[in-house]
Amino acid sequence: MNDTATKQTFSFQTEVGQLLDIVAGSLYSNREIFLRELVSNASDACDKLRYESLTNPKLLAGDSEFKIDIEVVKKAKTLTIADNGIGMNHQDLLDTLGTIARSGTSSFLESLKDGEKGDVGLIGQFGVGFYSAFMVAEKVEVMTQKAGEKEAWLWTSDGKGEFSIEAAEREGRGTTVTLHLKKDAKEFLEDARIRHIIKTYSDHIGFPVRFGDDALNEASALWTRQAKDISAEQYTEFYHHTAHAFDEPWLTMHNRVEGMVSYTNLLYIPSTPPFDLFEPERKSHVKLYVNRVFITEDTKGLLPAWLRFLRGVVDSEDLSLNVSREMLQTDPKLSKIRSGLTKKVIAELKKKATKAPDHFAEFWKNFGAVLKEGLVEEAALREKLLEICRFTSTNGDELTSLSGYVERFAEGQEAIYYIAGDDAAKIARSPHLEGFRAKGVEVLLFSDPVDEFWLQHIHDFDGKSFKSITRGAADLDSIKSDDKDDKDDDKDAKADEPALNGLIAAIKLELGETVKDVRPSKRLTDSPVCLIADEGDMDVNLERLLQRHGQLNSAMPRVLEINPGHSIIKKLAERASGEGAANDELLKDASHLLLDQARIADGEAPADPVEFSRRLNAVIQGAL
Ligand code: ADP
Repeated sequence: MNDTATKQTFSFQTEVGQLLDIVAGSLYSNREIFLRELVSNASDACDKLRYESLTNPKLLAGDSEFKIDIEVVKKAKTLTIADNGIGMNHQDLLDTLGTIARSGTSSFLESLKDGEKGDVGLIGQFGVGFYSAFMVAEKVEVMTQKAGEKEAWLWTSDGKGEFSIEAAEREGRGTTVTLHLKKDAKEFLEDARIRHIIKTYSDHIGFPVRFGDDALNEASALWTRQAKDISAEQYTEFYHHTAHAFDEPWLTMHNRVEGMVSYTNLLYIPSTPPFDLFEPERKSHVKLYVNRVFITEDTKGLLPAWLRFLRGVVDSEDLSLNVSREMLQTDPKLSKIRSGLTKKVIAELKKKATKAPDHFAEFWKNFGAVLKEGLVEEAALREKLLEICRFTSTNGDELTSLSGYVERFAEGQEAIYYIAGDDAAKIARSPHLEGFRAKGVEVLLFSDPVDEFWLQHIHDFDGKSFKSITRGAADLDSIKSDDKDDKDDDKDAKADEPALNGLIAAIKLELGETVKDVRPSKRLTDSPVCLIADEGDMDVNLERLLQRHGQLNSAMPRVLEINPGHSIIKKLAERASGEGAANDELLKDASHLLLDQARIADGEAPADPVEFSRRLNAVIQGAL
């Protein structure tokens, strides 16, 4: 072992170093989770080898009894976790334990900075659970030999910037992780304590976990047991194990389906959103097993991407073990399972949505935006999905279904009105809503980017078309007002028509091509102006979204609507019809200011901030 020639020292990649500093120094109160992570890794390693050995039985070298052994040596203050799984070679050690930051490293660091959500216990979710060992250990040794290879390696680190790898001797394949416990972590040398932790964390693991001479678990996969034999705690613990999660599952679905293709599913919906929910890969995290043999975690084709919030396992004895993962993805039996699972999940969600709306609202807040992707991607399920979709509206804080909205239609209302933007609270205060509010017409608030995309595919619900209130004319005339003293009919309150036309002409002249048109508005009651997209043009919010994603270079000019009943507009109309209007600087400045004000109300910047300030000053000056 003193052969320094074979011992190499490496630096942890910077981000891994940072992560270790935080983990090692953390005062996290629930440190025992390191054991869950390490036992999980050992079980994964056994799963991997069992899968590999299907096509290459020699890898087992006669030893097919997978097991995980835990051992405590009190004198040496060590705790070891040993498995006879796949093991690691020199390159694996470099790739996975140190020199290359795994993809979750930076996300994990980010999440820790986020005080409210940051939680060291979530380390496993980010795929860096191994490092949690440094919460309790001042030194960690990993002695490992890869199945099918001859060399064994010893990886050692005190977690302070460096690690070393040297050649070693090992009896057969597998990995032994030895933790030299910190002074303040001696509790993990106590038999009873270890026994208790392992029992909680390994109850459902499909391989025997042994401590001394005792097997601490049944080693039968949890999902193969009858639901009546499984306690709520066991379900939750399995969820924590399989999802590396900490929260309570929002929903647990354990079913056995017998038929052309038989399978068992134990699926969970988390109660807090996983960190990678909106990453572009849209990865699935449901594990696929074939006859209790783990195949893969990210099985394309097992579930649609818009159900990627699901966690858990699906196990089928009808899929073939002897084909590659890639071939499995195109197996028609897998698509049968997919459609069965999808229907099941939708049915469960519908049940919740109708029977427990408050509880369902929690799910919707976390995952509604993901589920709505299904409206775009799964044409056949659109109707079913629309039934469970919930929205906020101008009707109050409660979420509403589309059918609930339609039931509240105002007299004479024909369309489902909505306004889209990226912040529900902001769009709820938009000037565009004024006329609808005045007439007691409810408007849906669409604040998820995905809303714009399903609206490209779905044009109506229950025979009523969706209509954006920021595009085209506001057809409010046909709707009977529930407002008793309706000011709309008060003709005197409006600017008179010739004067208004004069003002419109003057504004058009001044603003030129920056606006598509200037029109009197029917949707405004309190604000002087707003911007809308012309009928047939792209809606304002969609355009903004596409621009933000670099898919659109320039914006279309908008239609500026002016409120004929607003006192500013009335005064300006008078000036526009008076003498010298053509050279009226105030009229010109006001035209630009009105446009800028409409832009600002939409959450955009004035066209030219410097000019905006100059004009505003000029107008204030004039008033003083
Ligand atoms: P994760 O298990 O989520 O990938 P970890 O940080 O816990 O993240 O482990 C990193 C990697 O190290 C694993 O993906 C695996 O490749 C390797 N590894 C860890 N423990 C073992 C083990 N007992 N046997 C084989 N490989 C292991």
